[in-house]
Formats: sequence, C-alpha cells, structure tokens
Amino acid sequence: MNTEVGNLIYKGKAKDVYETDDPEKVMVKFRDDITAGDGAKKENLKKKGFYNSIISTKFFKILEEAGVKTQYVELIKPRYMLSKKLKMIPLEVITRNIAAGSLLRNFPFEEKQEFEPPIIQMDYKSDEYHDPTLNDDIAVALGFVTRKELKTIRDITLKINSVLKDFLKSKGILFPDFKIEFGRDSQGNIILGDEISPDSCRFWDSETWDVLDKDLFRKGESGVMEAYITVASRVLDDEDKKKWNLNI
Ligand code: UDP
Repeated sequence: MNTEVGNLIYKGKAKDVYETDDPEKVMVKFRDDITAGDGAKKENLKKKGFYNSIISTKFFKILEEAGVKTQYVELIKPRYMLSKKLKMIPLEVITRNIAAGSLLRNFPFEEKQEFEPPIIQMDYKSDEYHDPTLNDDIAVALGFVTRKELKTIRDITLKINSVLKDFLKSKGILFPDFKIEFGRDSQGNIILGDEISPDSCRFWDSETWDVLDKDLFRKGESGVMEAYITVASRVLDDEDKKKWNLNI
C-alpha cells in the first residue's frame, strides 16, 4: 500500500496524520522530532520515529490480544501506521505505578514511592494551558466526556497498565508511569489512540533503574536514541526484528 496518501489532516509535535482512501482510516506517520516543555525544547533524533512506530505497534498488538480495542490496523512500514480514524478526546490519561516527574514536583510524595493500586491522573491536553491536571467534574463540564465514558476510560486504562506492566517485567523493564490518549470511532466506541513509546512512558531497567525513555532528553543527557533502541531490542521478538531487518 502507498504510504503518503491523502491530505495532511493533523500535525502534532512528533506525528502527522494523513487521510487515506478509506474514510474510516488514517495513516499516522511517526516523525523524528522530539520535544519537551510544551514544545519549548525541540530537536531531531535520527530514526526515533522509525523505532517508536515499531515499539508502539508491538504494544498495541499485545493489548489487542488481551482484548483492548486500539486504533492500530497495520504497520505498513516503519514510521507509517495505518490506523482507525478517531475523534480524539483532549485528555492525557496518566497512570502511575512509581512516583516520578511532575507528581514529585507538585505533591509531597517520596521519590520512587510505589502505588498499589496505581494512581490514574487526567490532564487537559493543551499547550496553551500547559496541560493542567483536572478532575471528573471539570472534564464533564468542559464537554469532553460523559461520566459513563470516564468509567470506561478508567477500566481500560487499568487493564492496559496490568497487561503492559507484566509484559515489561518479563523483559527486565519497570513501568513507573505512562500517558495514553483515547478517541471515539464512528460508532462512538472509546478506543485507545496515539502511541505507547519511550516518548510517552517512563521505562527503567529493573536491575539498575537506568532511565530508558524521554526523561534523558528532558534532562539534556546523552544516549537518548540508544535508550530507545534498548527498549526496542528488549520488547521485540526475533520475528519482529527479522521483519524490519533490525540488527539490535
Ligand atoms: N507525558 C507525556 N506527555 C506529556 C506529559 C507527560 O507523554 O505532555 C508522560 C511522561 O512521559 C510520563 C508520564 O506521562 O511517562 C507522566 O509525566 P509527568 O506528569 O511526570 O510529567 P513530566 O515530569 O514528564 O513533565
């Protein structure tokens, strides 16, 4: 299938979304741009989009197998993910298993404090307002979701957390926190969209607690791409690596 199809309908900070011949599907292109601080810090990280599309595909496939509905249709080739067309909900749904990042900046939790059950936090996705954390009443009053949809989102998110946390544990990776986004399909079903990658998750090595995600970029440290490749090398199986000619 041709990859650069149709008009560009959305340009995000790290991905582009194109129309396709099928009105129910879009092509998501993963770019190499990497940003932090609402886009204030921006760089180009060679091959990041290539790896993130493959890593996201892996997670979406694992989730589909576990019964979670995702936008994923097919990775046509690295960077180009054919996806269900969704109307995105402007909420960043963050799940926290271990305290890190803004949770420590904003609240008196202890560093690396563990949460069982996990904390689910929702932020308003808006560069203009700097992604403020909101609550159910605000999300409903803004017309983003109904209370029933919030319950669905929470239930799906807890399932995603437990499936991915177990999978990552088996690969020697801790899963302190991650951000996901949901949308509605043409029938109004709540579907997991966006991506699940080192751009949107914290991944720590289980043994050394070394950071394997975008925090390295946020902090201006080196080895960002090497960390993303480490994640790819651990989560992908031999078949995935062979399919995309990865020597990792
Ligand atoms: N996150 C994200 N996009 C955002 C904000 C956060 O993908 O705009 C992810 C981030 O990678 C981490 C989790 O959500 O895995 C929690 O981030 P946190 O609130 O701690 O913010 P940070 O410290 O990263 O600014």
